Amino acid sequence: MQWKELKSRLLEAGSVNLVGEPAEQYIAGSAAGPGAGSEGAVFFAMGGHRVRLALDPFSPIEITHRGTGVADLYFEDNLISGRLLEPGFHCPDQAFITVTGSCIFHCRYCPVPTLGGRRKSIEEIMQMVESVRHRIHAISITSGVLESIGEEEAYVLEVVKHLGFFGLPIGVSIYPTEKTPELLKDVGVAEVKFNLEAATPEIFAKMCAGLDYDLIWQVLDRSVELFGKNRVFSNVIIGLGETDAELEACIRKLTSRWVIPVLRPLNPVAELASFSRPSAERLERILEIHSEALEDAGLDPLLAQTMCTNCTGCDLVPGRDE
Ligand code: SF4
Repeated sequence: MQWKELKSRLLEAGSVNLVGEPAEQYIAGSAAGPGAGSEGAVFFAMGGHRVRLALDPFSPIEITHRGTGVADLYFEDNLISGRLLEPGFHCPDQAFITVTGSCIFHCRYCPVPTLGGRRKSIEEIMQMVESVRHRIHAISITSGVLESIGEEEAYVLEVVKHLGFFGLPIGVSIYPTEKTPELLKDVGVAEVKFNLEAATPEIFAKMCAGLDYDLIWQVLDRSVELFGKNRVFSNVIIGLGETDAELEACIRKLTSRWVIPVLRPLNPVAELASFSRPSAERLERILEIHSEALEDAGLDPLLAQTMCTNCTGCDLVPGRDE
């Protein structure tokens, strides 16, 4: 089985049962994004490829840890030998830190508002990065919204100023104001990700009441002016009820503006627990559309230094998973 097919099938399933030798050091927690609040996840790697799988003792897919990261994945009739990757924070090779683990908004697909996590102090964040410094090549920052979008932005800017100390590329993904791209550029951020989440404004309005879809487009355009080609990203979820044609239109609109889409299979949690995960066939179809759109625009996801396009754990990424 080719890696692309295996990964799409694993992303369709979403989870794995981990057995064998103790594997604590290979288990990643998550305070944001699709796995927030879950039992943890592992990164299974085969050669230069990797996939992030949530831990679930009832999953039909099994990984047996043989010790020191060596692992076998059992999937249907296949045995795939690989290894577990040790996370920095949240993902391998990076300290990907959620500054504030709570949110005043209530996007229907997101578990963060119900978790009510706290805000980390700057000192705590500095210590976290220090503790994994020897095995990371980037720092990525995301955040919920504790009080207001503006107040959160001001706090994240302070955090980023301190993180400059490490001399590593920094990526930031927060809910933006009109000024966010300038402000992040001024404090030395390398890459930014502002998430559209939904492929159409109608779906966005249903999912994220009170948030502004047009503002995100404006902020993405401004970001490309400031950060340049291959440095601006946007998550779009696959599986919120959009058609392939709607998703393709959104992907093409992003790439024509030099924004690299991060196409994230829906993890049906929070209010969307009754939704389905997208099928492997659909994920592979979208990968082809995504690859073509990037190529037509002259964009290259292999150049990403931070965040999800560099990590590749949760999505099929053109150039990395083909
Ligand atoms: S792809 Fe993004 S959300 Fe997924 S593990 Fe990697 S950094 Fe985290």
